[in-house]
Amino acid sequence: MRILFLGPPGAGKGTQAVRVAEQLGLAHVSTGDMFRALDAESDLGKRVAAIMEAGELVPDEIVIEMLEDRISADDAANGYILDGFPRTRPQAEALDTFLGENGLDHVVVLEVEADELVGRILARGRADDTEEAVRTRLAVYDRDTEPLIAFYEPRGIVHRLSGVGEIAEITESVLTVLAG
Ligand code: AMP
Repeated sequence: MRILFLGPPGAGKGTQAVRVAEQLGLAHVSTGDMFRALDAESDLGKRVAAIMEAGELVPDEIVIEMLEDRISADDAANGYILDGFPRTRPQAEALDTFLGENGLDHVVVLEVEADELVGRILARGRADDTEEAVRTRLAVYDRDTEPLIAFYEPRGIVHRLSGVGEIAEITESVLTVLAG
């Protein structure tokens, strides 16, 4: 089973992706986590850190290559949850080329009102979470990533869920739609 989690920064996508992956025995594949794990002293690590701090996107060709390597690993053979990839149309098209157009089984979209997102992200306090970077990340989501919902919609695999409420209850709703 191959599942994509989509949603704006602060929607709780990462939290839910980890929980659902564990429940279903799937690999959790987070490109953000992979970037944060890069050697901070390496050239790539420095370049990526600057992009993340600004709230911008890492160039598609870097992300795509990294992601394709990751989902080719043994622990992903049983299926995986993509958390944070694809984020742009070229990334989504590269994934289709890599997997074939029926590669994804489900797209789970976690929805949270814009007003609530900034507060949630700032409360989380991660290193790349300055207010300006947060606003940039939200704008980048609206511009580049939100249109991917419409890209996948014709396949009939998109499930929209509220990302507001208790963490465990949201996990249950996700598991219910995936089982449905
Ligand atoms: P995340 O942990 O998913 O919020 O990702 C943190 C940051 O990593 C993002 O704000 C981007 O700068 C970068 N990043 C993660 N995934 C991608 C991606 N698929 N494409 C481009 N940049 C990404």
